[in-house]
Amino acid sequence: MQVHFITMVLNNDTYQIDGIDVLSLTEKYGTPLYVYSANKIASQYERLTDAFTATNMKVRYACKALTNLNILKILKNCGSGLDTVSIQEVKIGLKAGFDPQEIIFTPNGISIAEINEAATLGVVINIDNISILEQFGNQHGGNIPICIRINPHILAGGNYQISTGHIDSKFGISIHQLRHVERVVETTGLNVTGLHMHTGSEILDIDVFLRGVNILFGVAEKFPNLEFLDLGSGFKVPIAPDADSTDLEALGTQLSEKFKDFCKEYGKELELWFEPGKYLVSEAGTFLAKVNVVKHTTATVFAGIDSGFNHLIRPMFYNAYQHIVNASNPNGVERIYTVSGYICETDNFAWDRKISEIKEGDILAIHNAGAYGFEMSSNYNSRPRPPEVLIINGEDHLIRKREELDDNLRNQILLDL
Ligand SMILES: *Cc1c(COP(=O)(O)O)cnc(C)c1O
Repeated sequence: MQVHFITMVLNNDTYQIDGIDVLSLTEKYGTPLYVYSANKIASQYERLTDAFTATNMKVRYACKALTNLNILKILKNCGSGLDTVSIQEVKIGLKAGFDPQEIIFTPNGISIAEINEAATLGVVINIDNISILEQFGNQHGGNIPICIRINPHILAGGNYQISTGHIDSKFGISIHQLRHVERVVETTGLNVTGLHMHTGSEILDIDVFLRGVNILFGVAEKFPNLEFLDLGSGFKVPIAPDADSTDLEALGTQLSEKFKDFCKEYGKELELWFEPGKYLVSEAGTFLAKVNVVKHTTATVFAGIDSGFNHLIRPMFYNAYQHIVNASNPNGVERIYTVSGYICETDNFAWDRKISEIKEGDILAIHNAGAYGFEMSSNYNSRPRPPEVLIINGEDHLIRKREELDDNLRNQILLDL
């Protein structure tokens, strides 16, 4: 797989992001620190749209991956819409300037009240269970067009926890309940203008998308007012140099052909939507932390950094691989480390990992930290959350301040005890 754009490069013995030495960034902003490359986000967007020039394809960035307003604005400027999963994300999207009709609301397990609030804001409503479908139909009939989330029962993606299409999944309305869906739609007069599926994350095999869309084509025959089919996301990004990723160009060619044939049969030019989160922002993000302690135990050598799963939970939560380089000594002799955090629980970022020799005070750069990094961070151990810096055309901009203890205490109400 061809790598189209490399954000993080070794240049004259220094690690750089878009031409800026990462050590100068940690000197300026301190550690730990999230750094994002605007250029990388834009180039990922372009690569996706280039792969689908043959279809009327629309991107709906799944903003739960990273919701900083500046990131949303970059994607808006690229031409993207949004995929949102909470009313708060809808409001952030509107604040970033997105047109409500370019925002799809794809929540799971929320109340009809929250769905109605989103409908009032004018966004596209995607319904993922029959109970809400009935309630929405009873209240609004055909006045507010809706999309329906189908669970095609395709087991896809990196691991069970991030796969959403399987039989045990809580997501979507089962393909086997289609007859029931039709009954509700006919009885209440619902106007179904979109069909949706999202089978999981980190899907390498493009056949999964092709099988999924075939299932949606079958469902589409039952709904004459469709305007779009939304295939969700799940594109896999390379998690290390030379790692595999979804072959978007092959997917674009094969899917576009199928889609064109389908539209001819359906009798209408539909839009094809995708909702990438990880694909657009994962590689654009790097998490920088400083090594506090190098600790030799009987079993391993720990490199203990000034962060933990409170700031980047993916390795502990999903067993996710995060590539790590020693930005202070990129060409050193490789040794084997366990990179651990400072949280008072087992808190590792990497196990048995070869990294250039680490000294206390070195800066480690953790790759693929743009998606579900800052966004899933917390104040566990009463630690403040890190700042976020955005690099635009070779210039760094602070886009979120480092939290302080007061930010953590602000909403506590002190009783007179
Ligand atoms: C999380 C999510 C996405 C994005 O998934 P990625 O693997 O980050 O691309 C897209 N659609 C829906 C409905 C989601 O919940």
